[in-house]
Amino acid sequence: MNILLSEKCTNYCRYCFAQERMRSSVNNFISIDSFKYILDFLHKSKVDHVNLIGGEPLIHPNIIEILKILNDDYKIKTVSIFSGGILPQPKIFEIAKWLLPEKYNFIFNLNNREGYKNNHYNIIVNNIKCLRSSGLDVTISYNIYKELFNYIEIFEVCNYLGINKIRWSLAYPGIRKDTEYIHPVHYPKVRNRVYQFIMDSYNKGYELTLDCQIPLCFFTKKQMSKILFIYPQFYQRLGKCSPAIDVGTNLEVWRCFALYDDIKANLGDFNNVKEIYKFFKTKTDSHLYTEVPEYCTNCEYWKDRICQGGCLSFNIDLINKSRQRRNEYEKLIDSHRNADLMSIREPLLWWLSDCIEDADALLRILYFILKKGDYDLIEEFYDNNKLRLHRLRNPVILYLIAIAFINKKDKKKALAVISEGLRLSQGSNLRQKFMEFLRLTRNELESFEISPFTFNQVSGI
Ligand code: SF4
Ligand code: SF4
Repeated sequence: MNILLSEKCTNYCRYCFAQERMRSSVNNFISIDSFKYILDFLHKSKVDHVNLIGGEPLIHPNIIEILKILNDDYKIKTVSIFSGGILPQPKIFEIAKWLLPEKYNFIFNLNNREGYKNNHYNIIVNNIKCLRSSGLDVTISYNIYKELFNYIEIFEVCNYLGINKIRWSLAYPGIRKDTEYIHPVHYPKVRNRVYQFIMDSYNKGYELTLDCQIPLCFFTKKQMSKILFIYPQFYQRLGKCSPAIDVGTNLEVWRCFALYDDIKANLGDFNNVKEIYKFFKTKTDSHLYTEVPEYCTNCEYWKDRICQGGCLSFNIDLINKSRQRRNEYEKLIDSHRNADLMSIREPLLWWLSDCIEDADALLRILYFILKKGDYDLIEEFYDNNKLRLHRLRNPVILYLIAIAFINKKDKKKALAVISEGLRLSQGSNLRQKFMEFLRLTRNELESFEISPFTFNQVSGI
């Protein structure tokens, strides 16, 4: 989770998707009470790492008090501070005194020298040098937002500072798209340079990490296999992203800064980090793959759901379209609670496959259809989406589908789905739930002439 200490910034990166927030914010700095509230929230969530971000987090007027609180907080084991580095050196010296090297590390956002005014570049380099001399771990964060970026200069400064960790990302726009970024259709123009940057980083011995996801088509297949061979950890950042979860100074939460202008909630509405994560997964991520971005039409990675089509900020209109459609379907179901489903079979089928990634919605509709007894509809849905459903790894959903097959007296399909459900529920807290479902329908299974032996074998009871 990322805590915004400050909504003011001393930097002016052209690609920054938080620019608007930094300009318009009235709540400049987080209060100590709010900061403590967030720490309590993290304790309840059993989270022991925190990211301090901004704006520029180090210009918080009570930064020393915040660091003292963190130093005394034994439940928070590690803290990453994301800084732009533009602040007076005496301030950095003062801050450095309170930083325990075993607890804190820094991620400095560094652009090419040409992107800075006055002597800001030198100020940043000297400030990093000061923190390095205090024994602190520093990573350089580098954002690529134009075709001809000068990564050699980044190597030079890392070399000068004795830093061997670089974290890179493609710059993504916010929803307003008023910052500098490279659109996915232009990725082929920049891919060779990025590839060279990665290869040169490896040859020079840099530990390279990737911040946000990159689409699977960014590199050619040949380039990708070479990259994964030398930096296998990039694999986790390919094609898909998850909610980062930022908390603002007023305790608002949003999925990640690129989606700052999209849905927000309040930290007080949740009991723990898991709930926030689930909230954004449902409200946003579950709408992926329902509308295909133009540049992804015919892409195999898209069809297989292994690439989401780039940063979600590029496709927020499609996500909104899906949200709207799902609302309409909800209304449709409400108006058909007491009617038969014949007239809405088509939209229901659409809706089912539309919300496969939204487990709650999917369960709700499956229950609804089961209660109505339209098992053919569930079968049709299953047959059309078998792969995606099995990939969900959600045995409860599979079991509901199995009930439909039991009622249809389709022994083969019922057992196939039950076996898969049991396999998937091994070691998960859904297994018990799944077993309960299984016990509940034991009679149906037995009357269905599955011998107790086979049943016991399958269910493991
Ligand atoms: S889904 Fe879209 S962004 Fe991802 S690899 Fe395919 S074409 Fe590229
Ligand atoms: S939507 Fe995903 S890729 Fe885009 S900024 Fe947020 S986390 Fe990164």
